[in-house]
Amino acid sequence: MTLFTRDVTVCVLSSGSAGNATYIGDGSAGVLVDCGIATKQILARMEAAGLSDAPVDAVLLTHEHSDHVGAAAVLARAFAKRGKAVPFYCTAGTAAGIDPRCTPDGIEIITAGTSFRVKHLIVEPIPVPHDVRDPVAYRVIVGDTPVAVVTDLGRPTSLVARALRDCRAVVLEFNHDEDMLLDGPYPFHLKQRIRGNHGHLSNRQAAQLLADGLGPRLDHLMLAHLSGENNTPQKAMAMARTVLDDAGALGRVNLTVALQHEALRPVQVQSRVW
Ligand SMILES: [Zn+2]
Ligand SMILES: [Zn+2]
Repeated sequence: MTLFTRDVTVCVLSSGSAGNATYIGDGSAGVLVDCGIATKQILARMEAAGLSDAPVDAVLLTHEHSDHVGAAAVLARAFAKRGKAVPFYCTAGTAAGIDPRCTPDGIEIITAGTSFRVKHLIVEPIPVPHDVRDPVAYRVIVGDTPVAVVTDLGRPTSLVARALRDCRAVVLEFNHDEDMLLDGPYPFHLKQRIRGNHGHLSNRQAAQLLADGLGPRLDHLMLAHLSGENNTPQKAMAMARTVLDDAGALGRVNLTVALQHEALRPVQVQSRVW
């Protein structure tokens, strides 16, 4: 029996190698996934997206690269100044790897694969292959509605595909076009790192993951962490559209490309809560 419904908002505040942050909330509870842009920018972009009063009850860190945690210490102090101690959740490997200058007060250690609660939100950290000790992607579930943020992984995995299958909104890495990366200006070692099993998803790999993880409930797909040097929004979109088209989902799924320098318009999905 459904007791009531809630609108779950997902807003990608910033996405790309210069910084990542996504807000997920339902009006009475909310989280930030990563905080890799300046605190001022996070707050300004939330305000611009109409989320200035949206609750932030936790910050979920995916891994310690600075484009994901850069603002953590300053953001924690900004919350404290507002009279709210906001916990920062991350794995032990991530906590050990964060630059001490970025380390926030109030870290809560989590275990990949073990879900936990932030108020009534259920958070599932999913292990991903990336070139740090203990990185995760996140599913956040409100009532019957999971949404997911999946970036910074070197290859598709069946675990991640399974985690996507019942999601209503997904933020998914489409990092690079393989030919652009190979022909592009990056030094050889960096090309190898990005292409490697613990680097970033190419458009082709992301399309494969999307094909495996696409379920009947998906309403919103936001392509994320696009490389400014080695990808174009058009190429990423074309790959994603092909997958959706093949699955007969092109008309149903709202497809957008997340931006580096401004927030995407928030998307909303309705959740049933018992
Ligand atoms: Zn990153
Ligand atoms: Zn990374």
